[in-house]
Amino acid sequence: MTKKIILLIGPPGSGKGTQGKILAEKLMLPHISTGEIFRKIATSNTEEARLLHEYMDSGRLVPSELVNRMIKRALLSDDYKNGCILDGYPRNLEQAEYFSKNVDAEISCIFFNLTDEVAIKRIAGRYSCESCGNIYNKYYDNPKVEGVCDNCGSTELIFRSDDEQKTVLVRMEEYKKETLPLVDYYKKKGKFFYINATANKEEVTEEIDLIAKRI
Ligand code: AMP
Repeated sequence: MTKKIILLIGPPGSGKGTQGKILAEKLMLPHISTGEIFRKIATSNTEEARLLHEYMDSGRLVPSELVNRMIKRALLSDDYKNGCILDGYPRNLEQAEYFSKNVDAEISCIFFNLTDEVAIKRIAGRYSCESCGNIYNKYYDNPKVEGVCDNCGSTELIFRSDDEQKTVLVRMEEYKKETLPLVDYYKKKGKFFYINATANKEEVTEEIDLIAKRI
């Protein structure tokens, strides 16, 4: 079986995490989010955690050297022998070049397009389950039982510290400067799919379903 890696690219709040998990189940591939991995590492009491906090809390990207090393190591593991859904990596051209040189797989890229206004509104209400990472929104997508995760039953539902407005604006600037050039890069490289991420969750899932059949 060819190793398939599906890259999810889009601004903060575009639904990559939510849709990435749905797509992973559909294609029976694991979902890796570099942001989720970093948030977990950042809870430890180490020098690496302190460094990660510094970058993430200010909304800036973590140095590529650290991310590249981590991804290369992760993708060598047997868990990902058939591929994965990669959410949040690569995040700039340096990472994309590294990835292309060091990872042998069939690559597809899904680009989630979203306006800044919608992104800011979505992020303002976003919270997630600390245990399984399921994502909710206090304005329009709460769990069925208040305070209890639909997916795993955990009651540890938390807001991300880097979702406060000041940090979100920096993250969006970083996205435009560093990540957006990847759209042209992957358009030229192979299977590239465009999603209108302004649509609601169910509509985007339908679009993704159609894409999943072509991947
Ligand atoms: P995310 O959950 O994808 O929004 O990522 C949260 C934060 O983690 C980002 O604002 C960055 O500080 C860091 N991060 C996640 N993925 C990467 C990456 N590929 N390169 C650099 N920093 C990253």
